[in-house]
Amino acid sequence: MKEKLVERFVKYIKFDTQSDAYSQTVPSTPNQVEFAKTILVPELEEIGLSQVKYNESNGFVTALLPSNTDKVVDTIGFIAHMDTADFNGKNINPQFHEQYNGEDIVLNAKENIKLKVSEFPNLKDYKGQTLITTDGTTLLGADDKAGIAEIITAMDYLIQHPEIKHGDIKVAFGPDEEIGRGANLFDVEDFGAKFAYTMDGSRVGELEWESFNAARAEVIFRGKNVHPGTAKDTMINAMSLAADFITRLPKDMVPEKTSGREGFIHLTEMSGSVEEARLVYIIRDHDFDLFEEKKDILVALTSQMNFEQAFSRVLLSIKDEYYNMGEILAKDMTPVHLAEQAMKNLNIPVIMNAIRGGTDGSKLSFMGLPTPNIFAGGENFHGRYEFVAVESMEKATDVIIEICRLLEL
Ligand SMILES: [Zn+2]
Repeated sequence: MKEKLVERFVKYIKFDTQSDAYSQTVPSTPNQVEFAKTILVPELEEIGLSQVKYNESNGFVTALLPSNTDKVVDTIGFIAHMDTADFNGKNINPQFHEQYNGEDIVLNAKENIKLKVSEFPNLKDYKGQTLITTDGTTLLGADDKAGIAEIITAMDYLIQHPEIKHGDIKVAFGPDEEIGRGANLFDVEDFGAKFAYTMDGSRVGELEWESFNAARAEVIFRGKNVHPGTAKDTMINAMSLAADFITRLPKDMVPEKTSGREGFIHLTEMSGSVEEARLVYIIRDHDFDLFEEKKDILVALTSQMNFEQAFSRVLLSIKDEYYNMGEILAKDMTPVHLAEQAMKNLNIPVIMNAIRGGTDGSKLSFMGLPTPNIFAGGENFHGRYEFVAVESMEKATDVIIEICRLLEL
């Protein structure tokens, strides 16, 4: 199983599937379509899954592992995403470090790029294991090719071991998770699962069923531009209004000063001229009321500044992006307890934290498919320091198999 798992992982990461936030197509990049059609579909057919299909309207590949038991068992699903984050994902050249010695790893000698234990103390946990790292010039793509490799290897294993009884298991591999849209068009009804899991978490043991509530705010400032030589008492500099807005928001409610369950209002973009300026914020909080309060802070500051200017120079628009899936899962914790039990049976200590972000499950759960998130094993996602231990991927594969087995008992 281990060889196939690693072989699949390496095959998948070598295929560039970076998504593109500025594209309007579904999926956002043609590479993802090609990956789905030329790599995933043939492989799912080859291992013997049923109903393998690529859905043109949403970019998802789905398939079924049919039940092999007489018992009536709920259909469940496993989901991973095909795309990689906004970082070089071309020509990924994985480096294997067998029996990792727990010390700094030179990723790229020529450019002196190192994975340092002082910066990434979590490296120490992997002493003696087989680490897969980048060559320092790309990301690794364990987020989420590790998840895909684990799910497919688990299905392959269950097909090879018919003595392990299970119900109907659905799998789905989708596009554009990293740009926050992949799940929007997911066909929950067609998938037909009672609940599912995304295999998209990080370190071994992670089981996440709470995410942020998320919104995005755009603030436009309208100035008045006149010749600076004769500007006295006439000119209104939109950039100064924007700067004023920034400084009047709570200073500590920012990502660099919050952790755990503390939310934030985070300035992500800023541009402008004297005539017009624009700020983009993202608003995040696990607690729905505190999330709404944070939006209210922006609304109140906007009206206050418009009042001071005696003219609507500040225009605010806020759009919700996704919600805390914990709100749905708290109503029925069966999916969480099942995964927890599976990890316990495998002697994997469970780490349950509220995600400081979102997953496909943050949307799917509200679309009628409760979907907690399980570790896929990778660390330091979205950049050149990303790595994964082969042992972690094996454990994630075991968790999938154990969940399928447990549910049938
Ligand atoms: Zn991911």
